[in-house]
Amino acid sequence: MASNRTKTTWIYFFLGCVVVAAGIIAPDRYGDLAYLIAAAQIVPVMLFSYRVDRAPKGLLLAIALIGTFYGLSAVTAGVWGETGVPRFVSNLFELVGGSLMVAGLVILVRQRRGMNTAAVIGDAMIVGLGSWLMAWVAFLQPTLAVSDEPLISSLVAGFYHPTGSVILFLMAVYLFTETKTNASSWFIGASVLATLMGDLIYALVDAGHLGAGVLDFAYSLYTLGYFAVAAAFLHPSVKSLEQTQSSGDSQRLLGRLIITTSSLVFPVIVLAASGPKSTADQIVRSISALVLASAVTLRVVLSVRANSDAQSELLKQAYTDALTGLPNRVLLLDRISSYVNELWRADREPTLFFVDLDRFKNINDSLGHSAGDEVLRIVAERLIGTVPREAMVARLSGDEYVVLDPTTRSLSNASALAERLLSVFREPIALAQGDVFVTASIGVASIDSISVKPEDVLRHADTAMYRAKDSGRNCMAFYDESMHERIAHRLAVETALYRALDRQELRMFHQPILDLDTGEVVGFEALMRWQQGDGTIVSPAEFIPIAEDTGTIIPIGAWALLEALTQLRRWIDDGVCSPQATMSVNVSPRQLADPNLPSVVSEALSRSGVDPSLLWIEITESVMISEPELALATLQKMKALGVRVALDDFGTGYSSLSLLQRFPLQRIKIDRAFVQGVADNPSDRALVRTIVAMGISLGLDMVAEGVESLHQMQVLSELGCKKAQGYLISHPVPADAMRSTVSALERLGRFPLLRGDHRAGQL
Ligand code: C2E
Ligand code: MG
Ligand code: MG
Repeated sequence: MASNRTKTTWIYFFLGCVVVAAGIIAPDRYGDLAYLIAAAQIVPVMLFSYRVDRAPKGLLLAIALIGTFYGLSAVTAGVWGETGVPRFVSNLFELVGGSLMVAGLVILVRQRRGMNTAAVIGDAMIVGLGSWLMAWVAFLQPTLAVSDEPLISSLVAGFYHPTGSVILFLMAVYLFTETKTNASSWFIGASVLATLMGDLIYALVDAGHLGAGVLDFAYSLYTLGYFAVAAAFLHPSVKSLEQTQSSGDSQRLLGRLIITTSSLVFPVIVLAASGPKSTADQIVRSISALVLASAVTLRVVLSVRANSDAQSELLKQAYTDALTGLPNRVLLLDRISSYVNELWRADREPTLFFVDLDRFKNINDSLGHSAGDEVLRIVAERLIGTVPREAMVARLSGDEYVVLDPTTRSLSNASALAERLLSVFREPIALAQGDVFVTASIGVASIDSISVKPEDVLRHADTAMYRAKDSGRNCMAFYDESMHERIAHRLAVETALYRALDRQELRMFHQPILDLDTGEVVGFEALMRWQQGDGTIVSPAEFIPIAEDTGTIIPIGAWALLEALTQLRRWIDDGVCSPQATMSVNVSPRQLADPNLPSVVSEALSRSGVDPSLLWIEITESVMISEPELALATLQKMKALGVRVALDDFGTGYSSLSLLQRFPLQRIKIDRAFVQGVADNPSDRALVRTIVAMGISLGLDMVAEGVESLHQMQVLSELGCKKAQGYLISHPVPADAMRSTVSALERLGRFPLLRGDHRAGQL
């Protein structure tokens, strides 16, 4: 378990500290033994870590190498008695160990994502140079002055100080960019610190600042360093040591800045405070200061450049679309406004082309988003290749592009360019999945007035684009003022419609359906009316399509069903109509596509207490064409409920015989368009005759809609259509007018003309 491992690690480290302490307190030679134990225990610990935790191999190797070089340095320096090896060799081992450590740390720092490695290395160089200068003044120059060792040996030893500072700096950068606390990192940090402190003591002794007596402490610190490394490998967090992390390094940047600046300030103070001791000293100081100054200058230049690069990248991101690299809405609006504000030459009229791909969603849904992205990129390229050089192609969002052409001179110019833009889509787009075809709808609006706002021009083009979509897609439409008014009106209707139900502005009117043979009212069709707050009555032909589009039809339709059925129940109970009279309720495509419809219907039936066989649902052909599976499933559920289905407006759509066979329909309603001509137009009459014959042979109930004259009624009856509704019989009337309507109709009995047969001969 991880927590047990953590505990074990700490106990191990504590024991290590005991060994170190014993090394300090116990007599001389014991310190050497402690060092030996510390160095030796590293091997099994690292093996364990590799086996159990799969500790990063590279890291293990690096630590082993570094440890070996430091160990060799200690041995050759005479920890276990004089070896006779020159000091120079020992110092070299130490320097190699230190350089390896620098390299390892650079690699670790590199793995921290989001960090500017070049900048860190630059800072590390400044730190190194700064501390070289300090080391020169504090240790090296004095050592050289007192020692009789060869110059090269002292120089190698001298180089170690800057290396140590760089190690410390990199270690700090690494540790402080840690996003999660990682104990292993901190143990390694402690080890590095202990080793460097040991080195410092050594250097102070060498330079004659401290007596040789404190060297024992230096060794104890090295010993501690080895135990800390062991603890780092024992701790379970060693696994994540090499993992890439993202670092939020803005705060740490300040820390780095402080360290880098101090590396600059302290040497300057030291240089100023102590004069050169010799000519050689003066040369070294001057060259070092020069190199340091150059490094700083370079670092500043690089960082300024990086900053300005980052800034322009940010600016680019703010103004362009990442997917296609095209200018985005912000840049487009900016450009439009520059055209709006400019005093335009009279012969030019900058024009906006709003290009929207048709049914782009289908590509995304069927081929996936990466295919969709590819299509968007290719379209962007093609558009750029098509427009004049001065024009801008922008991408607003999703599948919307805008071309802004400042060179347009006339309407015919604009329409030529729109044509060319449409032709961009004639060629198929080659994708990995195969060729696809897309088309686009284009809305065109020009910037013709100084006072207009950029957003308005964009909106105008957008409006025109919707007009193009409405007229069947893959075409263009020009913006004009009336379009704007239509849209504004529609928007007002949409908003008002949302509240109509709550405000009880909706009512049901009913139109009786008459049996032509008996003259009896056999049913009613429920037709919705919307009486707005100001008293104006809006026709369902106007508001039902809007309710369809916005989805308000769902609650409104549910209300209509319940209202109509409740009304029928009341009429039957009050004896207004016969107990077999039916109620027909119109159901729009959106309602039919709603999986809840069957439960809405059955709830309305049970709440009103009307038998399902008394309800007719009227649907139109469109939904059976566009979503046949869905429509079939819903209609079958209706049938299972015992509700019957009528096909409304028959003959106007794409009516096909297969439709009548495939769907569970029990009635067709012959559209008013044919009924109107049935008396006078032979071809209409022929058509109605065929429809009726076909309906009868399929066993369907037939109702004629929109009967306005006795003549029509007579002909229909002769053709075999036995049920009818229309203004001749009765307009749609409010509920409370139904009693008198029905009784007037029943008083009339069979329609007068039908009794006579003087016209029959004409049929
Ligand atoms: P529809 O279902 O075909 O309704 C028949 C339409 O013809 C009604 O128009 C009716 O008033 C009208 N009409 C009836 N007899 C005559 C006639 O002799 N001459 C003429 N010229 N017209 C006649 P209305 O009430 O304006 O309804 C229009 C359409 O709105 C309906 O056509 C129906 O599709 C839809 N609608 C009406 N109420 C509802 C509803 O509650 N829900 C849904 N989804 N649609 C409805
Ligand atoms: Mg109807
Ligand atoms: Mg109809």
